[in-house]
Amino acid sequence: MIKKIAFILLIFSFSAAAMAESYVVKRGDTLSGILSDRLGPQEISSLSAQIKKVYPGFVLKAGMKMFFSRDKVVINAALDRDLIIKSSEDGSVSVSLNKFEQEMIRVLVKGEIKTNLFDAVKKSGEDAELAAMLAGIFEWEIDFFKDLRPGDKFAVLVEKKFVHDKYAGYGRIIAADFYNKGRLNRAVYFEDGKTRGYFNEDGRALERGFLRVPLNYARISSRFTDSRLHPVLGEVRPHYGVDYAAPIGTPVMATATGTVEIMGYTKSNGNYVALRHSNGYKTYYLHLNGFNKALRKGFPVNQGQIIGYVGSTGYSTGPHLDYRINKNGRWLNPLKFVATPKTLKKDELEKFAEYAEAGAKILDRAFPVYAEAPLYNAIRMLEF
Ligand SMILES: [Zn+2]
Repeated sequence: MIKKIAFILLIFSFSAAAMAESYVVKRGDTLSGILSDRLGPQEISSLSAQIKKVYPGFVLKAGMKMFFSRDKVVINAALDRDLIIKSSEDGSVSVSLNKFEQEMIRVLVKGEIKTNLFDAVKKSGEDAELAAMLAGIFEWEIDFFKDLRPGDKFAVLVEKKFVHDKYAGYGRIIAADFYNKGRLNRAVYFEDGKTRGYFNEDGRALERGFLRVPLNYARISSRFTDSRLHPVLGEVRPHYGVDYAAPIGTPVMATATGTVEIMGYTKSNGNYVALRHSNGYKTYYLHLNGFNKALRKGFPVNQGQIIGYVGSTGYSTGPHLDYRINKNGRWLNPLKFVATPKTLKKDELEKFAEYAEAGAKILDRAFPVYAEAPLYNAIRMLEF
């Protein structure tokens, strides 16, 4: 026994000697600052060039551990990798990466909505990141701001990465179920050549060209109509948009990827943005308080990107967003608008059927439990 302890102590002191010094990176630290007593300005610049090559996304962050020995500096850059800086006799430096093996485990996560998705995912023992991933998959089917009900349930088959038995982030969601208002939404990941994404069991893509709403709104204050009494002008006029009441400053997102056609002001529209999309679509966002300052006419925008903020500029009786959709010159009712989703082709469908079956096998196992017993937030490791 004593021998064993002595042996452990020996190893411990030996490794402590090999790693003479360690340091935890603090806020505001720079690599050149930390290494200034070891390396000259020339080596520092060579060092940063080499790091860019070896590990392009590397950023020194507070909390990272560094270990110094005579001719080597090791930075625990991420759970799955160390950055190693070696200096040789002639004073030159070389940078290399030590990547650790990742283990990918598939996990079935289940949860029930009490308040919101983030809380439900956290309660099932998972990160908020998983809630974001899940919402991203179903955002075209479910308005996570408005449609969630207490008692809604989800089951997610997700990959989790582990390095040295330590959790190192999520991989991909393989398949997921979301029970919303008594309706089952199923998503199965499928990849074949250029086709990739989440599909329902019929092989219809869940992703649409357009978001359902451009903001987190409080209520709908006016609907799309061909004739209504205008609240400010006092005359009957059509209203070609939907008015979403929301507090001033609420971010407004582009509902589809496109280009900025107009960012401007008119008396009736107030500050407004018009975006041009593919297939003859345009979207309009009126009465804004202000714009995203990084945007200009002609700039590309991504779906979900913030283009401006809710205001009450122009002919407006209170803070709201007037959102409009136009296709080839014709106004469409945004509340009824459903962008056509992509559907898998016949040969793809055959391959997809295998994916869907594998996903369903796992997910179906999760749901009888929901139906029969009070839900407990269990995480089960599955092999298949
Ligand atoms: Zn309006």
